[in-house]
Amino acid sequence: MLYDVIVIGASTSGAFLAKLMAKKGFIVKVIEKADAENVGRKMDIVHIAKQDFDRYHLPKVKKGSPEWAFEFEENYTASPSGNYPKKSFAPMVGLHMHEYVSLMNKKAVAAGADIEYNASFNDFIYKDDKIVGVRYDVAGEEKECFGKVVVDCSGIPAVARRKLPDKMGMETFSLTPEDMFYVILYYVDFLGEKPINVGWPYHKSWIAPSDSKGGKIVGIGACHSYEYAEKMFERFRKDVALPAYEVKRTERGTTPYTRPPYTFVADNFVAAGDAACLTKPNNGEGITSSMTQLEIVADVLEKAIMEGDCSREKIWAINTRYNNVQGADFAFTRAVLTKAITATKWEFEYFFKKDIIFSEKMLGAVNAGPEIKISIGDILHIVGGILGAILIGKLSLKTVKNLLSGLRLGAKVKKLYLAFPETPDGYDAWVKKADKLWNKIGKMQ
Ligand SMILES: Cc1cc2nc3c(=O)[nH]c(=O)nc-3n(C[C@H](O)[C@H](O)[C@H](O)COP(=O)(O)OP(=O)(O)OC[C@H]3O[C@@H](n4cnc5c(N)ncnc54)[C@H](O)[C@@H]3O)c2cc1C
Repeated sequence: MLYDVIVIGASTSGAFLAKLMAKKGFIVKVIEKADAENVGRKMDIVHIAKQDFDRYHLPKVKKGSPEWAFEFEENYTASPSGNYPKKSFAPMVGLHMHEYVSLMNKKAVAAGADIEYNASFNDFIYKDDKIVGVRYDVAGEEKECFGKVVVDCSGIPAVARRKLPDKMGMETFSLTPEDMFYVILYYVDFLGEKPINVGWPYHKSWIAPSDSKGGKIVGIGACHSYEYAEKMFERFRKDVALPAYEVKRTERGTTPYTRPPYTFVADNFVAAGDAACLTKPNNGEGITSSMTQLEIVADVLEKAIMEGDCSREKIWAINTRYNNVQGADFAFTRAVLTKAITATKWEFEYFFKKDIIFSEKMLGAVNAGPEIKISIGDILHIVGGILGAILIGKLSLKTVKNLLSGLRLGAKVKKLYLAFPETPDGYDAWVKKADKLWNKIGKMQ
């Protein structure tokens, strides 16, 4: 059997693409390492913005169904010491991940995709240096399947992308501890009154619901390691007084926090989802931001498969279209945040107090889209506030320099991503410029 598309991984990204391609009438094979009982079990709860169910045509779930965990609309963002809470409105649905991924798998199968569980990718099969299929293990036995294009949706391990030979022109990096957020989620019951949903950006900590009965998640994310995240959590607990709670259980997981590979495509190959580091730069969430890319992938592959050519040149538009829709904005936000995060605790506190950067309007703009869209009036307010803060000694010149450098580098990197070459010609020169900019931007600390 010759498949049109082979997808590696059947979690949110793999199941989403498999359904899209099967609905278009293509023959789709998905290989998934986990068994059907464990697919999508890397954590219990994930959130998806309510509006995204329609936006991405995702299966909707009803209150009380096995996939549904809770819904909430209001969220607060507070200063490092827990003061000056800013309210934002962003309706969210909490989902049990395994149950929701299973539902997505069922929808993909109903559309015609073939999902094989307990099937672990080993390597590609090549003919004349071109990918023509994959080898994979099922219960210790090696199997083969052949297809016109392979899409890596295997998450952070990026099992297929990292196997590609250099000559295919794809970056094969693995994520280092500096390229990920180590997230620890404490599922807790507060003993007295339940606190509101709130995030503390300085501490990269938050309180969110965990179920419909008032259970909460107290979470923290940090680069480097879980040990470092625990240390940061202790620091957070010293700064912010939380009401007494009892920890019921703890979950840990990592999410990519680095720029995606410059190109997502090689001959007969596409990298997607966490395997392509497509998480949002402001919070590390990656389910729907990956779907933005996967919709483009499905559209471009449809034409390429119909024309019998999934070469790098033919599917290159995945890169350019993605950068126009989301990649350039994400690159801008990543650059700005990487520099802004160097502000001190007291500077953050002052920003909150005076509504500079951390105002309800700005936080609303962050929730609304990939790029922070602000008016001239807002900029003048920020600049005036910053100048005033320097004059009265509340803000160091070092922080101002970093903020300005973030904005300058963000604007440059966005411009570069919007000018991504239309064809592989010019790509090497583009990479040189991008490398230079990312070296200046550095990594989030
Ligand atoms: C603690 C935590 C909380 C998060 N909360 C949210 C949230 O609320 N909202 C949100 O949008 N994002 C959230 N994220 C991020 C989100 O989980 C990921 O961005 C998203 O799951 C990526 O989906 P994916 O399908 O690309 O990868 P994954 O979900 O990692 O799936 C990869 C799949 O590939 C399979 N696989 C791996 N190796 C092989 C192999 N060799 N052969 C075959 N199959 C293989 C795996 O078994 C898995 O099923 C969170 C992340 C963490 C760590």
